[in-house]
Amino acid sequence: MAVRVRFAPSPTGFLHVGGARTALFNWLFARRAGGTFLLRVEDTDRARSRPEHTQAILDGLAWLGLELDEGPAFQADGVERHRRDALSLLRQGAAYRCFCTAEELAARREEAKRVGSGYGYDGRCGRLDAAVSSARADAEEAFALRVRVPREAIEWEDMVHGPMSFPAGSIDDFIVLRSDGTPVYNLAVVSDDAEAAITHVIRGDDHLSNTPKQILLYRALGRTLPAFGHVPLILGPDGKRLSKRHGAMSVLAYREEGYLPQGMLNFLALMGWSPGDDREVFDVGGLTQAFSVDRVLKKSAVFDLEKLGWLNGRHIADAPAGDLAGAVVEILGREAREEGRDLAGTHPGLEISPERLARIIDLVKGRPRTLPALARQVSPFFAATVRYDDGAVKRFWKRPEETAFHLRHLAERLGGEAAFSDVERLESEVRGVAAELEVGAGRIINPLRVALMGQGVSPGIFEVLEAMGRERALARVRAAAGFLDARVATA
Ligand code: GLU
Repeated sequence: MAVRVRFAPSPTGFLHVGGARTALFNWLFARRAGGTFLLRVEDTDRARSRPEHTQAILDGLAWLGLELDEGPAFQADGVERHRRDALSLLRQGAAYRCFCTAEELAARREEAKRVGSGYGYDGRCGRLDAAVSSARADAEEAFALRVRVPREAIEWEDMVHGPMSFPAGSIDDFIVLRSDGTPVYNLAVVSDDAEAAITHVIRGDDHLSNTPKQILLYRALGRTLPAFGHVPLILGPDGKRLSKRHGAMSVLAYREEGYLPQGMLNFLALMGWSPGDDREVFDVGGLTQAFSVDRVLKKSAVFDLEKLGWLNGRHIADAPAGDLAGAVVEILGREAREEGRDLAGTHPGLEISPERLARIIDLVKGRPRTLPALARQVSPFFAATVRYDDGAVKRFWKRPEETAFHLRHLAERLGGEAAFSDVERLESEVRGVAAELEVGAGRIINPLRVALMGQGVSPGIFEVLEAMGRERALARVRAAAGFLDARVATA
């Protein structure tokens, strides 16, 4: 049997984290099985559905690389078929006409509330004589169609939760076609899934209560039942439903914040799924290899931004420099424009030396967690002027006079003919200065880092010196000493 799965979002908003994870699990399931992944846009809620939301969902899927094998199909295009399916249930006697009006139903619900009993439709129209029912319909009395729910437990083997059972009597005869002729949601879903020959329905836990109704409809329509798997909810770190603050936002918002699609995918996969060992960093290929629905966890997943950052950092470190260069150029270019300048002015040479840029990206990419953080690390290597980070200055340039003196000494030593011949030589020069001045190496290295990078963190300082090159590094060390002199003078 060829696996066919679908992602069926309603186009009433962007593609949020929960939806993206459902899409990913379906996509991985299809990839793993050599099956087909399709998108069905559930746009029957005309008032809330918007084409721009459909586009946002398509954009989100495309960014994540979850390409469609079929579709998008639109649920609203199937309304005639949904209606035909509902009427076929009436013909076979699996559904009946219900003439109860909205007011009557509301009054009965009120009454049940008053006496404190639960409300369920009592099935009275199902007991109408067939001839009476037809006659009332012929007389153009409005009716809805209700499914006759058999008095038996409804059971299925859930791919995630195992055996599931809804006891007899827990579901009352429910409407499939409203009196205005519109099909209800559960019927539309079953009709569409059956039509598309969906073999596995993988979706959120919030649909668990729809599943017994859908199973009844499959049976009544004589269609083949798919397997069902219900993926647990994603909670915020506070254990509550995911809010905008932590994650209930568009996946594309994470693109804007500088996360890589592969980092996001990895993160989404680990929310509610585990490979069963301690591996955490997966590329798409690795995920496809490792994924299986029976390793989807039953308990709810927790959205952990810290984890997303960490994983994304791993993916930045693993990405080829060439794949990151475009983003770095774009971010620094945007910042330059915001200051009314251009990249050639703020970072001379960056655009025209792709090889040097790649070398520097390779040097710094092990640490940053987002693309802007990566750009911040690359920036000082090309910047026309370094900006000293306040925190780093406070921490490492506490004694301006002494530090200026140290830096001058260092500049002299590094100015020597062969100092820049390789990383080892640079290291011995810097350590030599510390020894001469009788201070620990850290007292030289940390202030030097601020002088070169403007920041308190960077890759190994000797590698930084080498990558920056003699001329620029020396100029920066001298400029820092000058900056510190000015501080002393004004203090
Ligand atoms: N349209 C439903 C939703 O967005 C999904 C329905 C389903 O997967 O069966 O929650």
